[in-house]
Amino acid sequence: MTVESADMADATESPDIFRARVRSWYDEHATPRTETDPWAVNVHTDHDTERHHFELNRRWQGELAAAGLMGIAYPAAYGGGGGAGWMTRIEREISRDYEENTGFPGATTAMLAPALLRHACEEQKLEYLPKLLSAELTFCQLFSEPGSGSDLASLGTRAIRDGDEFIVTGQKVWNSAAQLCDWGFLLVRTDPDAPKHRGITFVLVDMSTHGIDVRPLVQINGSAHFNEVFLDEVRIPVANVIGEINEGWSIARTVLANEAAFIGGSAKTLSSTNLRTLAAVAGLTNDANVRQELADLITRERVVAWMGEQIQQAVRRGEMPPMDPGLIKLMTADNRVRSGNMAMQITGAGGIAGDSPKTTWSQVELMMRFAVSIGGGTNEVLRNNVGERALGLPREPGYDKNQPWRDIPR
Ligand SMILES: Cc1cc2nc3c(=O)[nH]c(=O)nc-3n(C[C@H](O)[C@H](O)[C@H](O)COP(=O)(O)OP(=O)(O)OC[C@H]3O[C@@H](n4cnc5c(N)ncnc54)[C@H](O)[C@@H]3O)c2cc1C
Repeated sequence: MTVESADMADATESPDIFRARVRSWYDEHATPRTETDPWAVNVHTDHDTERHHFELNRRWQGELAAAGLMGIAYPAAYGGGGGAGWMTRIEREISRDYEENTGFPGATTAMLAPALLRHACEEQKLEYLPKLLSAELTFCQLFSEPGSGSDLASLGTRAIRDGDEFIVTGQKVWNSAAQLCDWGFLLVRTDPDAPKHRGITFVLVDMSTHGIDVRPLVQINGSAHFNEVFLDEVRIPVANVIGEINEGWSIARTVLANEAAFIGGSAKTLSSTNLRTLAAVAGLTNDANVRQELADLITRERVVAWMGEQIQQAVRRGEMPPMDPGLIKLMTADNRVRSGNMAMQITGAGGIAGDSPKTTWSQVELMMRFAVSIGGGTNEVLRNNVGERALGLPREPGYDKNQPWRDIPR
C-alpha cells in the first residue's frame, strides 16, 4: 500500500505505525512550519489574492482527502478514511507541524459534515459528504440576517413552496467567504404561523442559482471577509432540504455547536509565541507586568487547547461534548482580546504606525481581537446559554417563544 492510497486510515494498525505513516506522508507532501514566517498574516486586500489563497486551501484539502486524511473517521462510502477517532487526533497533531492548511473550506467542513452525518438522508450523505470532505464543493454559512444575529431564530428569509421547489426571498449578512464558495447552507422561514423555532428549514443552495446577489463588505483593514447575500425569488429544490421541513432549528444548533468547538480547537499557532518574541525585541522580558500577563495568556492558551481536544474527540465519536462547547469559545475569545491588547502594550505607538512584519502582525492582532467574541455567537449570548444549559439557571425571559413568528413585532 502506498502512502498516497485512500486507505491511509487502517483501523487495525497500531497508533505508532499510523503516526509514522502520516508523518512520512506529510514530510513528502507538505512544508515544515520551521521554514515558514511566523509573522505572516492571513489578511488579503484584493479579491484575486483572497481567491488564490482560498484555492490553495481547497487544493490542500483535496490532497488530504485523496490520501484518506480528511474525515478520517467518516465512512469510506461518504468520502472519509473509514478509520477510528484516535487517528484524527494523531493527524491533527502532526498537521500542526506543517504550513499547509485547509483554511475556510476546512472550517465549514468541520461545521457542516457532522450535521450532514447526523441529519441528512442516505442519498444526501452519498451526494454531498464526499464533495464536502474533498472540498470539491465549498460551503458558506447563510444564517445571520439584519436584525437576526443573536436572536437567530427570529430570521425572516421566506421560503414558499411551489411544487418540487421553494421560492426564497430575503437577506443574509456577515456571510464569511460567500463570494468564494460554491454552495451555501441556508436557514429559511417555511412556516410563519409556527413559533419562531419551529418554522425554520435547513437547506443547501448552489450559490450560482439565479436570484442570488453576493455583495462583499469591505472592512477597516481593506479585506472583505464578509458579505451581504440578497435572495430574490431564488428557486431551490425541495430535495435540498436537510432533515424535515420546519425542523431546521436543531440542525442549526448542531452546526453552531460544531462551530464553537472548531473555533476553540483550531489554532495552529499560539499568539503567546509571537508575543514572547515581541517582548524580547522590545527589551521587556524582565518587565513584571508583561511577564505576568504573558504567563496568564500562556496558561489560558494551554487550557483552551486541552478543552478543545476533549470536545473534538467527543464530536468525532458522535457523542455529546463533555462540557458546553460555548465555554471554550468564550475562553478563546477572551484570549484573543488579551493577545490583541498585549501586542499593543508591548509595541506601543510604533506598533500602530509601523509597517514591518512584526508591527503588521500586531495591528492585525489588535483589529481582529473581537472577531471570535462576535462570530458564531457573541460572548453575552454564549454566557446566557452556558448559564442555562450547563449551570441550570432560569431561562432568559422571552415573551415571544410560543407566539406565532408572524405576530412577533419586528
Ligand atoms: C468573524 C465573524 C464571522 C461571521 N461569519 C458568519 C457567517 O459565515 N455566517 C453568518 O450567518 N453569520 C456570520 N457572522 C455573524 C455572527 O453570527 C453575528 O454577528 C452574531 O451572531 C451577532 O449577531 P449581530 O451581529 O446581529 O449582533 P446583535 O445580535 O444585534 O447583538 C448586539 C449586541 O447585543 C448583545 N445581545 C444581543 N442579545 C442579547 C441577549 N439576549 N443577552 C445579552 N446580550 C445580548 C450582543 O451580545 C451584542 O453585544 C460572523 C460574525 C463575525 C464577527
